[in-house]
Amino acid sequence: MFELSPLPFEKDAFGPHISARTFEFHHGKHHAGYVTKVNAMTEGTPQSDWSLEQIITDPHTDTGLFNNAAQAWNHEFFWSCLSPQKMAPLGDMADMIASQWGDFESFSEEFVKAGAGQFGSGWVWLVHNGEELEIRATANAETPLTDGARPLLVCDVWEHAYYLDYQNRRPDFLKIFIEELANWEWANQQLN
Ligand code: MN
Repeated sequence: MFELSPLPFEKDAFGPHISARTFEFHHGKHHAGYVTKVNAMTEGTPQSDWSLEQIITDPHTDTGLFNNAAQAWNHEFFWSCLSPQKMAPLGDMADMIASQWGDFESFSEEFVKAGAGQFGSGWVWLVHNGEELEIRATANAETPLTDGARPLLVCDVWEHAYYLDYQNRRPDFLKIFIEELANWEWANQQLN
């Protein structure tokens, strides 16, 4: 059985930036729904004993199961990318951002632009592609795991992630995420 992990923070930990009501729906309904569907789709099959990563990266996984398994994994990763305490990039990550983008402001602008430019539903990621850091947007459930890139940080840009708090203002949500909410300790841990 795949399980819905609890949020690693209180639902009201982000004040108006991401409301408790958003978490109630986003974690309690949307994320939970993906986990329920993965269980229903794998029940009685060998995949019920696999990890989400195995299901996602197996080229034989059918599209319906891939979509739900990838969404379950992406959401669990996303919750870990949120920090109730404001942070700045640290450690190796800070050095790499400085060397590739010059300063945090330029990096932040590119991240917001990539997320805002993702047409329709998807995700915007900071990944390590084997050689360097890269900002990458993916559509729907798609995840860098299938390309062998290592996810470091992600922001959900499906409307359900921000609509209750920001309505149509996706760029505002992205700017708050990257400047105020990103868990740089988590991101740096993924690098090492
Ligand atoms: Mn979502």
